[in-house]
Amino acid sequence: MEGANAPKYRFEHSPNDKAGCQQAACKRAEAKIPKGDLRIGTNTWLEGAEKYAFLWRHWHCATYHQMRSLKELFGEKFDEIPGYSNVSDESQEQIRLSIEAGYVVDKQFTGSRPDLAKYYTPYNAEITNAVGYKVDIATRGTAGCRDPGCKDKGIKILKGELRLGIATLWDGEYEAWVYKHWKCITKYDIDGAKERFEQDSFDGLSDLPEEHKEVVLDSFEQGKAINPPAPPTPPAKKPKSKARKRKVDLSEPSEEETEEALPPKKKRVRKAKEPSVEPEPNDEPDSPAIMAEGQDDSYE
Ligand SMILES: [Zn+2]
Ligand SMILES: [Zn+2]
Repeated sequence: MEGANAPKYRFEHSPNDKAGCQQAACKRAEAKIPKGDLRIGTNTWLEGAEKYAFLWRHWHCATYHQMRSLKELFGEKFDEIPGYSNVSDESQEQIRLSIEAGYVVDKQFTGSRPDLAKYYTPYNAEITNAVGYKVDIATRGTAGCRDPGCKDKGIKILKGELRLGIATLWDGEYEAWVYKHWKCITKYDIDGAKERFEQDSFDGLSDLPEEHKEVVLDSFEQGKAINPPAPPTPPAKKPKSKARKRKVDLSEPSEEETEEALPPKKKRVRKAKEPSVEPEPNDEPDSPAIMAEGQDDSYE
């Protein structure tokens, strides 16, 4: 049950307006939490669905129990509360004050920050809502890598490549596995996977060839991704290189030069018209236009 290892509580600016608030009156009214509003999630075992999922409340619907429980779990170490460091400063302040007080001190505070609403979606650089990790060797080569660099270029994880699988909760509703090349995983991923490994809930390691197993264990030990051995067969597809090729195009630098050469000449003319401004040293080649006007003799 991967979800059992997820934190008990989590704060975030709601990434959507789909989640219903669990507070009794809100629930009866089927009130949704607006996108961008501060919300508190509780990792909950759902009997019917037989899985863990985060259930959410408006910040102002957070309970005494949640505040007291957060105080017991984290004391003054607010930075360790999941999601705390990613919410706005204003929201952090409200969370601090309320945990200290043992109840939500400002019931009017919504914390609305739609600009921060996207943080927890699996499409961000760091996958912070992982509920499980596993390692395996890609058998088909169809999964994309979630590293932003690979993702932008549409680079797939090729058959035979070592990869990290990360289980995420999508909108707190269902688990979805996403993958990264082992070489692309971040310190954050490694810490998460290592923690599961130490709790004996990191799958796949025992099925790996010895060489790959070492790569995984070395990565855990060093806290950074160690490059795994190359897959036995050469990659079938090469990464798209169109964009890079265009940048190397030789015609481009000369175009830039002509563009850059224009503004200084214009400035020069403007400055020369102001009598109080002393002409500045200028490395620009002689400009026929300026010389013809006879406004500036600094080129002589
Ligand atoms: Zn509510
Ligand atoms: Zn990658």
